[in-house]
Amino acid sequence: MSDGATTAAGPPGDAAPEAAGTEPTARGPAATFDPLAVGTEIQRRLGVKTSRLEPLARFTTMRVGGPADLFAVAHNAFELRGLAKFARSRGIPLTILGRGSNVVISDAGIRGLTVQNRAESLRVSAEDGTATAESGVPMARLATETQLAGLTGLEFGLAIPGSVGGAVWANAGAHEAEIASVLTSVSVLPPDGTEVAMTKAELRLGYRDSRFKQQSEPQELVIAASFRLQPASAEEIRARLDDIRRWRQTHQPLGIPSAGSFFRNPPAEASGGRSAGALIDQAGLKGTRVGGASVSPKHANFLVNDQKGTAADVRRLGDLVRRDVHERFGVRLEHEVVFLGDWSGWKEDAA
Ligand SMILES: Cc1cc2nc3c(=O)[nH]c(=O)nc-3n(C[C@H](O)[C@H](O)[C@H](O)COP(=O)(O)OP(=O)(O)OC[C@H]3O[C@@H](n4cnc5c(N)ncnc54)[C@H](O)[C@@H]3O)c2cc1C
Repeated sequence: MSDGATTAAGPPGDAAPEAAGTEPTARGPAATFDPLAVGTEIQRRLGVKTSRLEPLARFTTMRVGGPADLFAVAHNAFELRGLAKFARSRGIPLTILGRGSNVVISDAGIRGLTVQNRAESLRVSAEDGTATAESGVPMARLATETQLAGLTGLEFGLAIPGSVGGAVWANAGAHEAEIASVLTSVSVLPPDGTEVAMTKAELRLGYRDSRFKQQSEPQELVIAASFRLQPASAEEIRARLDDIRRWRQTHQPLGIPSAGSFFRNPPAEASGGRSAGALIDQAGLKGTRVGGASVSPKHANFLVNDQKGTAADVRRLGDLVRRDVHERFGVRLEHEVVFLGDWSGWKEDAA
C-alpha cells in the first residue's frame, strides 16, 4: 500500500461529509457494514473482542489518527489468520497494524476492520543458528533474544521500533544491515486464505521495499518469518547493541512522537549523493512548524508531532518540505511513511 486511501471520504482534518445514504458517526463517515453485528459475530466465531470507533492514535508512534470503524487485537497467529479470513470473506476492508511506527493515519480514521498484530511467539535455536518469529514480535525483542542466544545478525533490530511483519514489509534496515541480510523464508497469508511459505527471493526485497509494499488491498499478510544467524560471543553482540543504542540517542529525536524517516533517500544521481535529511537541512527547514508538527532540529528527516498535532498537520508539513526541497534542489522526495485511512480528499498543492 502506498499513499493511497482505504475508502473515500472528505478532506482529512475537516468535518467528514455525510456519504449519500449513510448515517454519519461521531467522527468520520458511517461504515459501509454494520460494525456492531460484525463485532458480535467475530466474538462468537473467533473469541476475539472488538471495539467500535476506537481512536487509533495511541497504536502509532506518530500519535495521530482518527477512529477505526471496528478494531481488534490479534494475540496470536491463529487470531490473525482468523480475523483476516473473516474480513475477506465478508468483503470488509482490512488494515493490519504492527507497531504503527511507519504510518500516518488520517484524522478521519480507517474504514473497515483494523487489526493490531500482537502475535508474538518466538523460537530461537542457538544450535541451528535460527530464529522463527510470529509477525507481531517487536524487532527490538528479536535483537535482544538472539543476542542472549549468542547469535549475531539481528542487532540492527534494536533501531527499529516496529514488528517483524512491518519490518519484512519494509525490508527495514539500519547500521549497514537489513532484513534481507538474514531472512530465509516467510509464511504468507494471501487474499485467498491459503497460507504459503515464500523464500526470500520471492519477496523481491530492495531498498526499503518488498512485494508487500507494492500491493493494494486485499494485501498478502506476513504471518511469521525465519532468520539464519551466525554464532558470536554474547559480549561482542552486546557491545554492538550498546553502539546502536548510543548512536540513536545522539542522532534521533527519541521520546518524541514520529514515524522515523519521513522520506526515502533519493537516488544518488538525482541528489548528488545527499540523503533526504541532508537536503531538508540544507533547505533550512529544521524547526519548521505546521500546527503541532515540526521538522526535528536533531534529524531533519524526522517530522515530529511535538505539540499534539493532527494527521493533517503532519501531512501538510510533509507537503511543505517536499515542495521547498523540490524548488531549491529539483529533487522530488518520495514518502517513506505510509498514509493509512481516508486521505482521498487530500490536495498536496494546498500546502
Ligand atoms: C523512531 C523511529 C526510528 C526508526 N528507525 C528506522 C530504521 O532505522 N530503519 C528502518 O527501516 N525503519 C525505521 N523506522 C520505521 C519503522 O520502524 C519500520 O518501517 C518498521 O519496520 C515498521 O514496522 P511496524 O510494525 O511499526 O509497521 P506499521 O507501521 O504498523 O505498518 C507499516 C505497514 O506495514 C503493513 N504491515 C504491518 N504488519 C504487516 C504484516 N504482518 N503483514 C503485511 N503487512 C504488514 C501495514 O499494513 C502498513 O501498511 C523507524 C521508526 C521510528 C518511529
